[in-house]
Amino acid sequence: MILVYPEPSVYTKIIDFSKYASIRIGQPAEVLIIEPGDAIPTDRYLIGGANNLLISPTPPPLMMLGKEYAYFKDKSGFLEIGAATPTGRIVSYAKKHNLAGFEFCAKLPGTLGGMLAMNAGVKSYEIFNILHSIKIDGIWTPKEKIVHGYRFAELNGIATAARFRAAKGYDPELLNELLSLRNGQPSEPSAGSAFKNPPDDYAGRLIEAAGLKGYRKGDMAWSRMHANFLVNMGNGQYEDALFLLALAKSEVKRRYGIVLQEEIKLL
Ligand SMILES: Cc1cc2nc3c(=O)[nH]c(=O)nc-3n(C[C@H](O)[C@H](O)[C@H](O)COP(=O)(O)OP(=O)(O)OC[C@H]3O[C@@H](n4cnc5c(N)ncnc54)[C@H](O)[C@@H]3O)c2cc1C
Repeated sequence: MILVYPEPSVYTKIIDFSKYASIRIGQPAEVLIIEPGDAIPTDRYLIGGANNLLISPTPPPLMMLGKEYAYFKDKSGFLEIGAATPTGRIVSYAKKHNLAGFEFCAKLPGTLGGMLAMNAGVKSYEIFNILHSIKIDGIWTPKEKIVHGYRFAELNGIATAARFRAAKGYDPELLNELLSLRNGQPSEPSAGSAFKNPPDDYAGRLIEAAGLKGYRKGDMAWSRMHANFLVNMGNGQYEDALFLLALAKSEVKRRYGIVLQEEIKLL
């Protein structure tokens, strides 16, 4: 297929995923940068901050939203946030403007777009709880019309912005409470939780019960600190990560009859 892009705003960037991806696995790859007004190709995979991704040696063609999509607009009772906005900036904005509801975004690495697609959250705090609507492929869609649940949302398109009905009342105590949960997380590079928690159980508990906590293959390991974190101990390779994911899945299935579902996205 021949794709024609409007010039000159469309450009590509070489991103080294061994540095950019939070799990520090990958290689340099060309990424198309999308800015407002650009045609959005349908044959490229959209990435955000790559905090939930495991990049293979042969990823699909990639694209990401450019910096024009990282913005805040206070608009007639709504706060509109561009989908490329990093979570850290969202928390700082909420603090500065005394807004409630965004505390859980602290130390939850990523962009707003990634949070929306994953319905990212901590405990009972999820991005869909405070959301009003998302601009998907140019159309504002109320959240009620978007199928979503625990760590997923069927956006079926590219989210470029979202609106929130942000109430006053930034809560530093809640922030500290949520930040203290992070003390139990490993400091080595990871992509957060590798598997979703199955109903009424915890993926970490099951991986540990299957005897895999701390299990290592090459430089990849199931963390000794939190068994659902696949951590890179140095020069971790994609194949070793895949091996450990498959091992945990098969052992948990064999012992407990539970099929773990990846939260991490394999590209
Ligand atoms: C140390 C650590 C801790 C973490 N803790 C948590 C946690 O507590 N809770 C939690 O939920 N997650 C957690 N994560 C995972 C990660 O932070 C979230 O999934 C985050 O939302 C990923 O955002 P991202 O921009 O990096 O998305 P990416 O990893 O780049 O992409 C994730 C998915 O979002 C899609 N996507 C990205 N942008 C858009 C867009 N604009 N429109 C449509 N789809 C899009 C991508 O196609 C992909 O399918 C953690 C990760 C790490 C490394």
